[in-house]
Amino acid sequence: MVELKTDTEIAAMREAGRVVARALDAVARHAEPGVPLRELDAVAAGVIADAGARPSFLNYQPHFASSPFPGVICTSVNDVVVHGIPDDYRLAEHDLLSVDCGAELGGFHGDSAVTIPVGGLRDADAKMLEDARSALRAGIEAATAGARMGDMSEAIGRIGRRGGYGIPADFGGHGVGRRMHEDPPVPNEGRPGKGFPLRPGLVIALEPMFMAGGRDGYRIADDGWSLCTIDGSRAVHVEHTVAITEGGPVVLTAA
Ligand code: MG
Ligand code: MG
Repeated sequence: MVELKTDTEIAAMREAGRVVARALDAVARHAEPGVPLRELDAVAAGVIADAGARPSFLNYQPHFASSPFPGVICTSVNDVVVHGIPDDYRLAEHDLLSVDCGAELGGFHGDSAVTIPVGGLRDADAKMLEDARSALRAGIEAATAGARMGDMSEAIGRIGRRGGYGIPADFGGHGVGRRMHEDPPVPNEGRPGKGFPLRPGLVIALEPMFMAGGRDGYRIADDGWSLCTIDGSRAVHVEHTVAITEGGPVVLTAA
């Protein structure tokens, strides 16, 4: 069931979104070669706790997982697309790190992700990262009242396919609210004019994920969580929580 949010609820969700933005910013500034992923998790945990919020991901166990998630953030390095576990791995120069963070404040969740080039950005990664950010922007621009889900999904997928990237079909965005994952699903590919009607009060997470090798297949690592590219190629993932309002889309997880 899709729950539309009131203006007051959207304002509350903006506060949760701000906490997520602050946590991601702190993690990005801390992500240097030599730093273990576990340390980034502690940085995010600190920001969320200081804000009086609660990490959404810690101990979260969705239907596809065989164990509760053990981290505050997802840290997905290089060929890991999403859901990487923050462990003892130490970042290396030119790693491509995607960080996904969720926080609950005042009963509402915010959900956002960034991809961070560690040390320098390789030329080979720069275009894919820019394309993912463009796809997110295009999806947000298409998130207007009166449009359909397919308009938004198509805007994201078109940029991904034009770049020749793989797009994992079973994972994408979702409604956000009192639960982190709500209806409706927000696919990363779609057909214009089709799908769920976008109405004021709908709050959704848009999350393009692109895989450099161009294949849509993926594998789940032995840890039961990390979703990896099937060919070992690198991947990017960016995400914002967005409210559809009469006045246009509002990014709730902006800094
Ligand atoms: Mg997320
Ligand atoms: Mg999400």
